[in-house]
Amino acid sequence: MKGERIMPMLPLRDIVIFPHMVVPLLVGRKRCVTALEEAMSKDKKLFLVAQKDARIQEPEEKDIYTVGTIGSVCQLFRLPDGTVKAVLEGGERASLVEDLSTKELFQVRVQEMEELEGNPAAVEALMRSTRDALEQWVRLIRKTPQDMGFSLDDPGKLADTVVADLDLKLSDKQDILETRDKQERLEKVFRLLKSEIEILGLQRKIHTRVREQIIEGQKEYFLNEQMRAIQKELGEKDEVKSEIDELEARRRKKTLSKEAHEKVKKEIKRLSTMSPMSPEGTVVRNYIDWILSLPWHEYTQEEMDIEKAEHILEDDHYGLKKVKERVLEYLAVRALVDRMKAPILCFVGPPGVGKTSLGRSIARATGRSFVRISLGGVRDEAEIRGHRRTYVGALPGKVIQYMKKAGSGNPVYLMDEVDKMSTDFLGDPASALLEVLDPEQNHAFNDHYLELDYDLSKVMFITTANTLYNIPRALQDRMEIIRIEGYIETEKVHIAKGFLVPKQLQVHGLAADNTSFTDNAVLTMIRRYTKEAGVRTLEREIASVCRKVARDVVKRGRDTRIKITASTLEKYLGVPKYRFGVKEDENRVGLTNGLAWTEMGGELLAIEAAVVPGKGKLIITGKLGEVMQESVRAAMSYVRSRAGVLNLDPDFYQKVDIHVHIPEGAVPKDGPSAGITIATSIASALTRRPVRSDLAMTGEITLRARILPIEGLKERVLAAHRGDIHTVLIPKDNERDIKEVPLRVLKRVKLILVEHMDEVLDQALLLKPVCKALPEVRSKYGG
Ligand code: ADP
Repeated sequence: MKGERIMPMLPLRDIVIFPHMVVPLLVGRKRCVTALEEAMSKDKKLFLVAQKDARIQEPEEKDIYTVGTIGSVCQLFRLPDGTVKAVLEGGERASLVEDLSTKELFQVRVQEMEELEGNPAAVEALMRSTRDALEQWVRLIRKTPQDMGFSLDDPGKLADTVVADLDLKLSDKQDILETRDKQERLEKVFRLLKSEIEILGLQRKIHTRVREQIIEGQKEYFLNEQMRAIQKELGEKDEVKSEIDELEARRRKKTLSKEAHEKVKKEIKRLSTMSPMSPEGTVVRNYIDWILSLPWHEYTQEEMDIEKAEHILEDDHYGLKKVKERVLEYLAVRALVDRMKAPILCFVGPPGVGKTSLGRSIARATGRSFVRISLGGVRDEAEIRGHRRTYVGALPGKVIQYMKKAGSGNPVYLMDEVDKMSTDFLGDPASALLEVLDPEQNHAFNDHYLELDYDLSKVMFITTANTLYNIPRALQDRMEIIRIEGYIETEKVHIAKGFLVPKQLQVHGLAADNTSFTDNAVLTMIRRYTKEAGVRTLEREIASVCRKVARDVVKRGRDTRIKITASTLEKYLGVPKYRFGVKEDENRVGLTNGLAWTEMGGELLAIEAAVVPGKGKLIITGKLGEVMQESVRAAMSYVRSRAGVLNLDPDFYQKVDIHVHIPEGAVPKDGPSAGITIATSIASALTRRPVRSDLAMTGEITLRARILPIEGLKERVLAAHRGDIHTVLIPKDNERDIKEVPLRVLKRVKLILVEHMDEVLDQALLLKPVCKALPEVRSKYGG
């Protein structure tokens, strides 16, 4: 037990002095100075203890902690203002036993404290960990505090030394001082040290991040400034300013909608505060540019002179009498009724029949500008309506893009191939299109990119399609459908000579007398180099001839004259691509000419059937096999029901396999209209009676062998005519459509109305079998 001693006391503010710690202090309070002097006059020892609250000027016993150290005064200086500067060193721990202070002097009775040693192994482990942590800490604070205690081998001393250097709360330090057990003390210090390291690490991270951000910002600013300085130095005027000025000037000159006006003003202001090279700057600049280059209130002068329109349509197109009439009616009605109610024109027909060029003529006739967009393959709603500006590289949708191209707010806007849009996970472009076309909504069309209402109500929309089949019902309801079926040979000859040849000569820089086409040459071109309802390929072939002529003209001189005849054609276009007419020259068993109706117009389609010994299998091949299944089965039922009349064994179908082949062509929904053709081929194959090759047919067949009407009669008959067929069997119910077939065609092609399949076979099958029917199917009654 250590003894008690009486000695002066120095209450400390904001500091705990540990054993062996040397501290310089400024002492001002009178009783403290006296205490120091008292100590100096004796053995220099005094009790150093912390005040609980630093603000108390004259502390009493309750205001100070009970544990402190017995320190010694190393040096003492008096300063002129009466205060004292002392250098003190902490000593043994001691606790206060009794406060003996008087008014003049702090004095106490204290007792030295005994320290406890702890478990040596645990202490050793603790010492090592503490030293490691200490090293880490030193690295973080990047300085070496004096006497960091690396070499101390007493745990208590180590704890005291370390804790003196840590930045801790006073109460934490006091707690360490009061801990007599060295192991426990070191443990506490170790924990404090660890948490300090963690805090320091976090602090370091935050510092680094902030500094990086600052440096990056500064770098950009610095580089931009430098660039501007260089530009100035090079004599270029301050580009950014001039750009803003230019945009401002454009804005002032332009009439915009009120909303657009506000927006542009705001965006220009925003742009002027931005770094010109930044990505945001570019986005904003593009956006402003889009708004300023769209026609908002610019319109071309519209004309509504029907007579003039008629002349223009006549000038640009041969034939198409009915179509032209309907277009003129449409224009007249549009001039009279409220624009809101006018439907949208839709030209439906195969490629190359003049749908686009009619649109162009309408624009010319009504004094509007003309734009054409193709909707073929558009899958994404955003292609119509645009991407939001937050997307990288966003643009307005096609509708707005082409308004910019039109340059006026009231163009003729031709939307090609509305039937070729597709719907998938990217949204439904058709419904977006509906909004564009709907006069109730399109005065305020909202593009995702522009985010401004744009007025489309003065635009004249015209759509085109190859078939109505794929156009959504809702869209069809908004449209006035005008069909253009295709041309017959003589019409094509007229179009070629009157329009296509002059046009191509001009395109290729040839004079009218450089070259001429004989009628026969044109006809051969139509028959043997093209196979289409329109004249697109024909125009391409003519262009091809013109290119070669141009070469000769350049070689031989401007006044070269070249006459193209049917026999010289091969020199220009190579070997003919088609045999004229696909009809078979010979009457064959199992092969019947059908007439399909496709996107390209009508087409001859020969359907084949073959019978082989087997077990009653029905094999269907060809592109539309699946769609045609039902037609083939209906045809089979008919043939079976007529086994007797056809001289077939009643159970013939169990002994043979029947193979029907349907070549490609025809739109999928057109399947049934081949019904009677299939039945004829099967009946022919089974009976071995050949089918007339100069005859074609079309019609749907029911299970009871009645014949149902088909669509597209005119196109089919035209195709028969092209194929040099002279007789066509058509359903009785299609009688009313015959008036649509041009008279010239009717003169060459005989149409026979049929109601029942029996009549078809009567007409189509030749009476005598060419050879004996297969023994398996021959009836016992003859054949
Ligand atoms: P579509 O839009 O129907 O596919 P285009 O309008 O592009 O067809 O027509 C193809 C070419 O044929 C154009 O050069 C067009 O001028 C011409 N053409 C089509 N029909 C006629 C016609 N009846 N009279 C004159 N030229 C025509």
